[in-house]
Amino acid sequence: MTAELIDGKAFAAVVREKVRDRVATLAPQAGQTPGLAVVLVGHDPASEVYVRSKGRQALEAGMKSFEYRLPESTQAGELLDLIERLNTDTQVHGILVQLPLPSHLDERKIINTIAPHKDVDGFHISNVGMVGTGQDAIVPCTPLGCMMMLRTLHDDLRGKTALVIGHSNVVGKPMARMLLNADCTVMVAHKSSTNIPELARHADIVVVAAGVPGLVRSDWIKPGATVIDVGINRIAAPEKGEGKTRLVGDVDFDEVRKVAGAITPVPGGVGPMTIACLLANTLSAYCHQHGLADEPLPLDEQDPK
Ligand code: NAD
Repeated sequence: MTAELIDGKAFAAVVREKVRDRVATLAPQAGQTPGLAVVLVGHDPASEVYVRSKGRQALEAGMKSFEYRLPESTQAGELLDLIERLNTDTQVHGILVQLPLPSHLDERKIINTIAPHKDVDGFHISNVGMVGTGQDAIVPCTPLGCMMMLRTLHDDLRGKTALVIGHSNVVGKPMARMLLNADCTVMVAHKSSTNIPELARHADIVVVAAGVPGLVRSDWIKPGATVIDVGINRIAAPEKGEGKTRLVGDVDFDEVRKVAGAITPVPGGVGPMTIACLLANTLSAYCHQHGLADEPLPLDEQDPK
């Protein structure tokens, strides 16, 4: 068997197009354009790339993009003041503080200062708690993207056995909660788990977000299982020349694709979905703030097909 390749770029293009169409219809009705504010503290090169991309894609979707770049030395009070201002700014419907923050800043406190209805990353404790109790809430973008892809691959997720490898607050935990909310039977493994291959062999769905290149091997995978690789790792690629690198996921892709039923590549799998889902979350936040019907996007959580 050779697994079906799940084309995250194509999925993301559909989501972006739907968001753009919806913005074009709703903005004239509401008399206002959706606005996304992204706050970056410091000069982490990867974060700078993400922030640029988020701003560009928001503009392409017909939204307003507000970027705040603050120096590494920014003190908590200054950042909290900015967030408070954005919370009350009626032009801003979504606020995202790019993580990681410099170590002198208390990430939890900063994130929990964002108004929950503008928390388009879905990291505010109130949104986390609502997702954890199966209530409608803004959900984190990367697991939302994974769920959209899983919904289109599986007519019915109920009763499927899913293994999530990685239990971070950003990916693993929200992913597990969303699968549970979809009535999957969910196992969560992490770096202290001792029996991951055995757990994986029972899983119809494996989602891995560990940050360990080649962690998931083909003999872990139940034939026909769906494998979603969230990992993004840069490794040396001497075959491309001296000092060259390439991106790989957490899955031994070439081997696992011979066993799995469907698999996401890296790059081009989950990655492109993350920003597309940020735009979808910003649109949802805007709809709620304007009292507009927030119809699910075609690839959305509530709309399997
Ligand atoms: P993290 O470091 O916060 O968490 C890693 C998790 O993996 C932890 O729960 C840890 O216990 C677990 N883990 C580590 N080594 C393990 C092992 N050998 N076996 C089993 N579990 C192990 O990372 P994160 O923020 O959750 O990100 C995970 C990966 O996903 C990274 O490669 C990151 O770059 C990537 N990521 C991708 C996107 C995207 O848009 N595609 C978004 C977020 C994160």
